[in-house]
Amino acid sequence: MVHIIVVGAGLAGQSAALTAARQGGQVTLIYPGESMVLSAGSSQLAQGGVAAAIGADDSPSAHAEDTVKAGAGMVDPQAARYLTEAGRQAINQLLDQGLPVDRQVDGSVDFALEAAHSLPRVVHAGGDRTGAVMHQFLAQQVEANPRIQQVPGQKLHRLLTKEGAVCGLVTVDATAPAGEGEEFTYQADAVILATGGYCGVYGRSTGARQATGQGALAAAQAGALLADMEFVQFHPTVLAGTGCLISEAVRGAGAVLVDAQGQRFLSAIDPRGELAPRHVVAQGVHRALEETGQVWLDARGISGLTQEFPGITAKLRSQGIDWENQLVPVAPAAHYCMGGIYTHQAGRTTVPGLYAVGEVARTGVHGANRLASNSLLEAIVYGQAAGADAVRAESTTQASWFPAAKGTQGAGSPTLEVDVSAAQLFDGIGAVCATEPNPDIDAAVRAALDRGLGIERSATSITATYQELQKLPGALSALGQIIAAAALAREESRGAHRRQDFPLTDPAQAAPRLIRVTF
Ligand SMILES: Cc1cc2nc3c(=O)[nH]c(=O)nc-3n(C[C@H](O)[C@H](O)[C@H](O)COP(=O)(O)OP(=O)(O)OC[C@H]3O[C@@H](n4cnc5c(N)ncnc54)[C@H](O)[C@@H]3O)c2cc1C
Repeated sequence: MVHIIVVGAGLAGQSAALTAARQGGQVTLIYPGESMVLSAGSSQLAQGGVAAAIGADDSPSAHAEDTVKAGAGMVDPQAARYLTEAGRQAINQLLDQGLPVDRQVDGSVDFALEAAHSLPRVVHAGGDRTGAVMHQFLAQQVEANPRIQQVPGQKLHRLLTKEGAVCGLVTVDATAPAGEGEEFTYQADAVILATGGYCGVYGRSTGARQATGQGALAAAQAGALLADMEFVQFHPTVLAGTGCLISEAVRGAGAVLVDAQGQRFLSAIDPRGELAPRHVVAQGVHRALEETGQVWLDARGISGLTQEFPGITAKLRSQGIDWENQLVPVAPAAHYCMGGIYTHQAGRTTVPGLYAVGEVARTGVHGANRLASNSLLEAIVYGQAAGADAVRAESTTQASWFPAAKGTQGAGSPTLEVDVSAAQLFDGIGAVCATEPNPDIDAAVRAALDRGLGIERSATSITATYQELQKLPGALSALGQIIAAAALAREESRGAHRRQDFPLTDPAQAAPRLIRVTF
């Protein structure tokens, strides 16, 4: 029987594990917390919902079109088509299985409108607790599946390779003090990485602190290419001074943004105002903050506000804010990573035997800017695709494993070589030296990224951050150096990547940039 290891128990990992097990594989699911829910991924934090073209007036092609438009010239149209078609099927299937989504009084699904969607298509659950509801729903299915063996309390340390293919991995006890955890070795026919994104390398971030791109680093060390690491999406409406997200769905329901003088400012930037694509709104908020010192979200006019958004209401109340009657101070924060491990449709990376799904992967569906609520969909759809492919894949030759020549976006694109040996992660023969977190160094890394690689960057700010990071050892610093190198190489502004020194979009650069890392 084929043995598949899935690393990470967010929606992508759950989806991959369930599909691989249902297709006849024996699955080992590894995650660092005591349980799937306590493993602190971003999935449980997702508020707004999951975008899916399941409405009577909707179609996968309309959804794909919106996805391509939001991605600022970088979305792989084939991937967008696949996401939206397979996504419709996947979400309908979850509804058939009883996923408890919010419904209208007549029993039909209650679709929300979010920025840059041409019509309401965002399916939500528990009001603003969509991620937690979906995660819990899939967790129950994982628990009930006898082919999935759960391994809690362990985290990925490094991947094992044999003759150029991944054949297993080494984990470390995640519950032991840093540097003292016991190591465990696993062999597998295939490994699926579902370890989430890397927004946690920023100081101001909405995601799990642990989302620091460890899966991407492990993959890169095993020889996999990364791509598009410069594209980090900043969410425009995060409670100022915290990581507490206020979903785009609140603006979809009618909330507006005003500056320190109480003036709305977004319609002067984009006719879609508060519902312009996320990078446009984030940049507008960033500039209004710099110019006027304050930006407020005004949700006071929305009827049924606290019933529709119970989770956000509770978080704001815990900070002493009654948003039915008060304005909410907001600022942007790092929220989602479009870059990651370079994969093609079924989640295959450039290394045979290794898959990447969910936010750790760069599939081409988000381009330079993710369309709101497309990432939960991506986690489910690509988790399913990789789970199924891993069970049936036999070929381990590079050419048949990753048929780049057959139209995979990025084939033939320039490859950026990034040397992170200054971070002292490996000793030259593959042994890990310094991946354990060091709070002081990690805080310095996060501050450096906030300073030099935020919403607006320039060669000067990126280089200053890069030089600072080169003096800091550790995994966070290595990840930061990769982001900096990619951001420096992209000499244009596109989607979430805004260069003050290159403010225009350059059509010649509308291609993914592949990244090979040397350790
Ligand atoms: C506040 C917030 C709100 C959001 N709202 C939405 C929304 O409404 N709609 C939407 O589509 N998207 C939303 N997103 C984005 C979306 O939640 C994520 O992109 C998606 O959930 C990622 O799923 P994932 O399974 O890839 O990763 P995650 O859910 O982050 O799971 C990663 C898993 O990997 C584990 N892991 C990490 N490192 C290791 C390691 N070294 N070894 C072993 N395990 C490891 C983690 O513990 C976790 O179990 C939101 C994100 C945030 C932060």
